[in-house]
Amino acid sequence: MNAPRAASRHRYLVAEPGYYRPVFVAGKAFPVARSNFFQLMEFPNSWHDPRLRLINGKWLFVGVHEGIDITAERGTPVLSMTLGIVERVGWSFYGGTRVGVRGTDGRYYFYAHLAAVAPGIVPGARVQAGTYLGRVGNTGYGTDPGHRDEFAPHLHFGIQAANSGPWVNPYPLLVALYSATVRSDERAQSAIDRLAVSGKRRAWEHAIARWSLGLSPW
Ligand SMILES: [Zn+2]
Repeated sequence: MNAPRAASRHRYLVAEPGYYRPVFVAGKAFPVARSNFFQLMEFPNSWHDPRLRLINGKWLFVGVHEGIDITAERGTPVLSMTLGIVERVGWSFYGGTRVGVRGTDGRYYFYAHLAAVAPGIVPGARVQAGTYLGRVGNTGYGTDPGHRDEFAPHLHFGIQAANSGPWVNPYPLLVALYSATVRSDERAQSAIDRLAVSGKRRAWEHAIARWSLGLSPW
């Protein structure tokens, strides 16, 4: 009989990731929360990439990609880009579990393949930029609600012009919002770290307490 392994007597610290508070540029927020942990986050420009589907044994061209895919770990919070009213929540064949928000600018903001929808996100609910809508997942490409795992987890994000107009390319906006988020988070993090190493304990405690509540650290 094997003795219990020595390692099992130790408790390892396994912390949950913390997410940075949303950063707003002209009232808009990047739609996937950034983490203070090492995080997979990438969104190559996939706007209007050809989309092929295997139909009756043949690969057929079915249209172009009318959005941008933001790859992130399953469970990463999805945030509303904009102020608006939730218009659609639920299942669609390609989109899986998805949320659609009608922005106050009249445009439709589409968040697809979610693993879960956040509490209170129901048709008619009012959301702000940065409101938690749900979690990144890989649902869709199936008729049964909850069908998943046909592709890697990512957020499909799309913007449709007002009055059911054409889908518009959200890529430049996503790049601008992501860049602003990274710059802001890194400025705040390095300023807080400088307080810590300089021994300004009261100032550091004040900043870190505010930041952990989702407030500006200053
Ligand atoms: Zn997509």
